[in-house]
Amino acid sequence: MKKWNGWGPEDAPPTPLAYEVIQILNTIFGELHPSPDATLRQALARVPSPKLDNRHLVTTDPEDRLRHARGQSLPDWVALRSGRINAFPDGVAYPSSDEEVKSLLSYASKVGARLIPYGGGTSVLGQINVIPGDQPVFTVDLRCINQLLDFDETSLLASYGAGITGPQIEASLNVRGYTMGHFPQSFEYSTLGGWIATRSVGTQCYRYGRIEDLFVGGHIETPIGQLDIPIFPASSAGPDLGELILGSEGRLGIITRATVRVSPLPQRESFHAVFFPTIEHGFAAMREIIQARVPVSMVRLSDSQETENSLVFTGRKLLISAAHKGIFGIGSERCLMIFGVTGDSKSTRLAYRQASAISRAHAGFVVRHFIGNEWHKSRFKSPYLRNTLWDVGLALDTLETALPFSKAMAAFEGIKDAIRSAGRDIGEVILVFGHFSHVYMDGTNLYITYMYRRSQDPDETLENWKKMKSAASEVILKRGGTISHQHGVGTDHLQYLPAEKGSVGMQVLSSVLKTFDPQGLLNPGKLIDN
Ligand SMILES: Cc1cc2nc3c(=O)[nH]c(=O)nc-3n(C[C@H](O)[C@H](O)[C@H](O)COP(=O)(O)OP(=O)(O)OC[C@H]3O[C@@H](n4cnc5c(N)ncnc54)[C@H](O)[C@@H]3O)c2cc1C
Repeated sequence: MKKWNGWGPEDAPPTPLAYEVIQILNTIFGELHPSPDATLRQALARVPSPKLDNRHLVTTDPEDRLRHARGQSLPDWVALRSGRINAFPDGVAYPSSDEEVKSLLSYASKVGARLIPYGGGTSVLGQINVIPGDQPVFTVDLRCINQLLDFDETSLLASYGAGITGPQIEASLNVRGYTMGHFPQSFEYSTLGGWIATRSVGTQCYRYGRIEDLFVGGHIETPIGQLDIPIFPASSAGPDLGELILGSEGRLGIITRATVRVSPLPQRESFHAVFFPTIEHGFAAMREIIQARVPVSMVRLSDSQETENSLVFTGRKLLISAAHKGIFGIGSERCLMIFGVTGDSKSTRLAYRQASAISRAHAGFVVRHFIGNEWHKSRFKSPYLRNTLWDVGLALDTLETALPFSKAMAAFEGIKDAIRSAGRDIGEVILVFGHFSHVYMDGTNLYITYMYRRSQDPDETLENWKKMKSAASEVILKRGGTISHQHGVGTDHLQYLPAEKGSVGMQVLSSVLKTFDPQGLLNPGKLIDN
């Protein structure tokens, strides 16, 4: 079972911090005095009586309601850890068929309840949170609808119940010699339906595609009836209705089944590290690798601070000393790029040679397997560090955007500066670092992590976050970036969406939602403000 107030299974031991890491954190943040967290018992004591009693397919068990109350955003963490959760679902349903989902929709319509579709609850922008109000709210947890329904080996298509998680999908495919290749960092808990509803992206999307490239069709139970997105390799029969479902954040309907493209498992796969003297060198190399269409499976370029963290947080003496002394003659501004090669032995060898040659031409020092493969092995482990950092007194959040290459570097520095400057205004030191990953022919995403001291007062921790988040979001908009490349909109990005979609775009979105859901039964207050 997932932790009720953090990341990973309940019984996961805390990720240890190396002595050197603690020293660094003390130097940056000074002595930390973490306030204690609320216990599960204390949080449960605050779960109010439901607005409706135990009803149709719905349990009102307080622990179920607590465990479905919040996702994984920083405000969610503050609420859960402090036990100050402002709203709970009145019940949780675990449907196991289309029929049960349909029946929940008609029940909600009859009693005036609202339904929040729920996959793994890993969203980070308030997408599964209850907005306080008078109507009863039920969370619809889809994880019992998680079967492999069809595997079309000839067409490389697999169909699943939408509540299936990443590991369940890969287990079902890997035994047959296939993979979906969708590996968001939340892979362990997030679900196929959640990926579709948030337009999720995996670390190897450069090879396998974003979820919108993988999602072919499916079945959606909507308040006005069933919507089937048929399975075609391609179609020019008018606008693609599947595109409406992608990124719909549970507002148009409940996805119960989805068909996705799959690929044969690669014969070979390896990940390689390159150190560049500056981020500009690395950025030029990354762009050239992509625009020359070198068939890498992923590229990720960290700034110098993230590079240092990646080396030091391993806890390995050799890498820690490399981080401090400089690496292979490359000084303190060094930046780490990881690239992956995936395929058969001929194509991976070729991709490795091409990517290495371009990197060297940009003053890169190529390290063969070790650091790259370490990154790959631990790619789902880094979120666990958030638990440990919280325990020592630090709050950590991430934000992201995407821009054309021509604007990306200036925006990257601009966003980080805005967060630091917001930190100065509140008298706090902020450790800010980031990377480019998820690269396209015309641009890249920017992914920024920031860490700051938790206050003794959870409200102050939250206020400080708001200041940094809004400073960063304003710069993203000003620089012409999207408010989200991969996390979506939820409640936290809602105010920024009109700037991106324009007034006609917002009208279209609003009328689509009204058409599918005239009574406003599904996930109100997310994506758009009604
Ligand atoms: C540590 C961590 C790492 C992350 N890494 C990534 C990453 O690498 N890439 C990335 O894209 N995102 C990432 N995320 C964000 C998050 O994991 C994704 O948004 C993910 O797609 C959410 O899936 P979920 O199943 O948990 O959905 P939930 O959080 O349960 O729901 C998300 C939204 O989808 C709706 N929804 C869920 N299931 C359905 C359904 N069956 N039908 C209709 N609507 C539905 C919900 O109502 C909600 O609006 C990360 C989050 C965390 C905490």
